[in-house]
Amino acid sequence: MFPPSFVRRLRSDLGDAQAEHILEVMKMPPPVTVRTNPLKTSSPLLDLPLPFDRALEISRYGYLLGERPVFTTDPLFQCGCYYVQEASSMAIERVIASGNIFSSTDSGEGLRVLDLCAAPGGKSTHLLTLLRERPGSFLVSNEVIGSRVTVLADNIARWGHPNVLVTNNDPADFCRLPEFFDVLLIDAPCSGEGMFRKDERAVTEWSEENVALCAARQRRIISDAMVSLRPGGTLLYSTCTLNTIENEENVAWAAREFGMEILGMEHFYPGEEYGEGLFIAALRSHREGHPAEKSHGGRRRNAESTLKEYRGEIPFIKEGYRVYQKDSLLKVFPAACAETMLSVESRLKTVKSGTGAASVITDRKGQATLIPEPDLAFSEVLLRKGDGGFPEVELDAEQALKFMKCEPLNITDAPKGYLLLTFLGHPLGFVKNIGSRANNLWPSSRRIRM
Ligand code: SAM
Repeated sequence: MFPPSFVRRLRSDLGDAQAEHILEVMKMPPPVTVRTNPLKTSSPLLDLPLPFDRALEISRYGYLLGERPVFTTDPLFQCGCYYVQEASSMAIERVIASGNIFSSTDSGEGLRVLDLCAAPGGKSTHLLTLLRERPGSFLVSNEVIGSRVTVLADNIARWGHPNVLVTNNDPADFCRLPEFFDVLLIDAPCSGEGMFRKDERAVTEWSEENVALCAARQRRIISDAMVSLRPGGTLLYSTCTLNTIENEENVAWAAREFGMEILGMEHFYPGEEYGEGLFIAALRSHREGHPAEKSHGGRRRNAESTLKEYRGEIPFIKEGYRVYQKDSLLKVFPAACAETMLSVESRLKTVKSGTGAASVITDRKGQATLIPEPDLAFSEVLLRKGDGGFPEVELDAEQALKFMKCEPLNITDAPKGYLLLTFLGHPLGFVKNIGSRANNLWPSSRRIRM
């Protein structure tokens, strides 16, 4: 079943007993694990009707499920209460905590973090959760492949954090932001040995030549992006493959090439904590950085932003945010990092930034009408009812499914105008209630077809 030279190398790297154990685990069906979103639920075991088996040690938010539910039709999955992720990938939390990566970097001001190879968004959504402990921080979640960036942007929107930009750039483009980021995560494309039991193609495409090709591509990606890491900043390098060529050897090469100290390296092998396998290393640049002198992204410090601050009234956004307009779209950014985020937006091919909150239509008399954007329902910037927010209507499971299939809803006993629909209290989306029917604002791009 597995390529003989892969098996030989695993045995020589790890010894017969451990290799045999890993190979046995890799023949078994993969366990189902999820990572919950503390922005939306602080007690997932009570709040989320999932078939929980046990909590994982690898992450405060990780759980093993006893069986695989149909996630697509679950409104709580759709509105970002949890993310389906294999357990080893959650190790990033442990590595960040044990290396004090988010807490020991400089004076305590917000961090600038780049997730260079981010689609479909597993580690980016996790980083957003972890960055809540460092207010004023923001994430650039980048994916070079255009067809994958749409899924990434969608997953990021569901997760509900406004302190993030989703970009579609080649690693070399980050030379436009020299010495800019405090933390650079490179979760590199790899030969995928950790994916063998999930993805038959990973097995058939595996070869020694491909491992060498992947290792060379990984070095190229690191070289291209390193210019954007500030002196004293941290590089996190990870792969979901098991061999030392793409892992330890590349880390040693990067440490030599860029004068970095290796803070730590860890392998999580298939089966550990129910995961598929992950290698992760943390390296810190030797050169000392002064946080007060943080780069603003090169000489074009005041690059012209195409976004203008919106001065109109928006009753349904919490305090502490700034609103900018791009064409008819109003986007919401945390006040503490709004300007820096806009400066990044003007330098990269940005697909999404902040929370898309509303479209604004201004009539000839200057009267503005605000139409809530679907992403607003998922976001922490949304004010809930009672505070100036939208009237809310709770849906049952059948109605929620109809809503996510973009079907019209019959909503009785509700005021006319825009309504926020919830499922088990979690915001799912908006409708415009015109009395005889409610027009569905769930986007067709997210329409459930099953
Ligand atoms: N970090 C993601 C997560 O946790 O969900 C998984 C990332 S996956 C291991 C690697 C990503 O690198 C893929 O999305 C792939 O499209 C992207 N990629 C492929 N070739 C690349 C290249 N030459 N430069 C940068 N990224 C690349």
